[in-house]
Amino acid sequence: MGNSPVLKVAINVPLSRLFDYLPPADGSRPPPGARVRVPFGKQRQVGLVVAHACDSALPRSRIRRVLEVLDDEPLLRDEDRWLVGFTSEYYHHPIGEVAAAAIPALLRQGRPLNPLLRHVAVTDAARHVDTEALAKRAPRQAELMELLLDAGGNGIDIETLAEQMPTWRRSYRALAGKGLIAEFEMRADDPEPPPRGEATAGPDLNRDQRAALDEIRAANGFHASILDGVTGSGKTEVYLHLIRETIAAGRQVLVLVPEIGLTPQLVTRLRTRLGIEPALLHSGLSDLERLRSWRQARSGDAKLVVGTRSAVFTPMREAGLIIVDEEHDHSFKQQEGLRYSARDLAIARAKHLDLPIVLGSATPTLEMLHHCETGNYSHLRLPRRAGDAKPPELRIVDLGRAASAEGLSEPLADAISGHLDESGQVLIYLNRRGFAPTLICTGCGHVAECPRCDARMTVHAKDRRLRCHHCGSARPLDEHCGECGAAMRPLGEGTQRLEDVLVRRYPDRRVMRIDSDSTQRKGAMDEALQRATRGEADILVGTQMLSKGHHFPQLTLVGIINADQGLFGTDFRSDERLAQSIIQVAGRAGRESRVGEVIIQTAFPTHPFWQRLIDGGYARVAGDALEERRLTNWPPYSRLALLRSAATRRGDAHAFLDVAAGFVAGLARGRLRVLGPVDAPMARLAGRYRAQLLLQSTDRRALHDVLRELRPLLETDPTARKVRWSIDVDPVELF
Ligand code: ADP
Ligand code: ZN
Repeated sequence: MGNSPVLKVAINVPLSRLFDYLPPADGSRPPPGARVRVPFGKQRQVGLVVAHACDSALPRSRIRRVLEVLDDEPLLRDEDRWLVGFTSEYYHHPIGEVAAAAIPALLRQGRPLNPLLRHVAVTDAARHVDTEALAKRAPRQAELMELLLDAGGNGIDIETLAEQMPTWRRSYRALAGKGLIAEFEMRADDPEPPPRGEATAGPDLNRDQRAALDEIRAANGFHASILDGVTGSGKTEVYLHLIRETIAAGRQVLVLVPEIGLTPQLVTRLRTRLGIEPALLHSGLSDLERLRSWRQARSGDAKLVVGTRSAVFTPMREAGLIIVDEEHDHSFKQQEGLRYSARDLAIARAKHLDLPIVLGSATPTLEMLHHCETGNYSHLRLPRRAGDAKPPELRIVDLGRAASAEGLSEPLADAISGHLDESGQVLIYLNRRGFAPTLICTGCGHVAECPRCDARMTVHAKDRRLRCHHCGSARPLDEHCGECGAAMRPLGEGTQRLEDVLVRRYPDRRVMRIDSDSTQRKGAMDEALQRATRGEADILVGTQMLSKGHHFPQLTLVGIINADQGLFGTDFRSDERLAQSIIQVAGRAGRESRVGEVIIQTAFPTHPFWQRLIDGGYARVAGDALEERRLTNWPPYSRLALLRSAATRRGDAHAFLDVAAGFVAGLARGRLRVLGPVDAPMARLAGRYRAQLLLQSTDRRALHDVLRELRPLLETDPTARKVRWSIDVDPVELF
């Protein structure tokens, strides 16, 4: 026993350390990267072996044994574990929680990589069944038969089946009784790689696309390229060429897309153009489906892996290229728990594996543009739309001068009529769901507020309720003011109200609202987008959701109802953000042969921001903003980390950060700027008081050195017991 190794195990608990265990008594030795089941306190936990060591701080007699080895070979190979370790160090987050985030839920729970599944399949006798006749007598049975006949010999595992047809059990009994279908057990593995279909040819690349492609290809090993191309400039065509070439060379490709960028449109385009079935990884899949994609990526069977944020951790045996589409999108940054940026980790991973990485956007972040300026990354521009599409024209409407009824100004209303008359489709953008953002008293001006947050309640008209968009609490609409008894009325516009206004104003037109309220049901979003794409709505009204990646062929006019919220933002990123959201939604207009128009309503038409955007586009806004950041030393010219705390008592939230600020002062020795502690911009959320401490430095090393020492001090400090706290490295939201 003296020479059996000590296993250093990462366990999914919020402590920044590894735990020591001895191998099981049967003599097996789980290799680094394998999962083990271990006793942990009075419970059992699944952990990941990170390393073997000779000794431990504990005497051997006090080290507990592994109960069960869950993987014979490493689940995560060295390079995949490297990413886990790097993430833990860079974001100063407990390694056990990082390891847990890096693997699919079923594996986290201890299920095998190839679980034994119960399948249902048709029997030989089923071939002679007349399903049409069956459908008349027993439509549910027929439905199940058709599903299983389509699935072929191995049938469908019952977890997937339950998702596709929740009532399958009832029909199963009848059909099994007739000997038409049967249930059996099968190991989930992936014997036959998904069939390779015919690839279809795309357009010949234009000069800009070819230049970009050539430059990306010329790189040897790690190289980051920013593909800075206006909407419709053909970035995806460039990706397709790169993907095809990489796969032809026997390597795998990882494509990361934003949360709602993984649309059926994109998947269909990849499938038909490349002739392969991409392995998908996103939150809309069942746990089993996700495990399957992950397993195929890990084994190298899946040549193309397309996923959202957490897919950055997917192990790939033969990775050859990483693509991050819509690099600027905020969904790449996780905003809770492990607060990582999938984009930044993708770059780190590409560097470690010595691979090329391509980051595409019509509105690249200042961080990426800065890397281009310093010559680290190449800046590849696609300034023109591909094919015949022309860039849309931007126009400002002065809300101070133009009459406006419930958010819709006359010039915008006229433009809508004009475009509709020429059979164009119209998109009205307002990044505020609900009926109205405020319910106000007509007598005393009292405003309905959330009892748990420092926020106003949003009016939802259909179910006559007030809802808090921050904590989710809801109550019936107040008819009368609680203070003075006068009538309450909605103030301002949300997408629901705008929908009503548009329906009244254009009664012969089909208006369709797309926001998170209208698309709650699973699949509703895809369905709505498909209908919009087919032109089954004349006017689309919606939030941010509508601005991303979709291609509406008939769309010629985009109206932006209220852009002013962003003009006076306090966040140092507000100009960048506002320009990104406007350019992204504007990019939906005129993507085919008809010229698009974009109308922006603002109460501040002379604000310099508008002049910059209209004269110089995103590049001008970004250039000016970058210069301002340089002068004021904000990122990317410095680095930030935000320490947050939340507690039921305001004093506790602050006490913790006061202690933290004291530690930082001792550790930093003047190398950091410390701002706070202060109340968070929304000081109360869901009944908790929130405070924050911002650390800033032009020396990234110094910042990380301090955080590395700070974390264990905070974990054991008594003030930490009364708060929820987190470290956010490279925060994108400063609240
Ligand atoms: P992006 O990804 O930059 O938004 P896409 O790759 O989706 O752009 O291209 C926009 C449209 O232009 C698509 O319909 C695409 O088929 C077409 N397209 C792209 N490149 C070319 C080209 N070189 N010639 C003709 N059409 C092209
Ligand atoms: Zn609330």
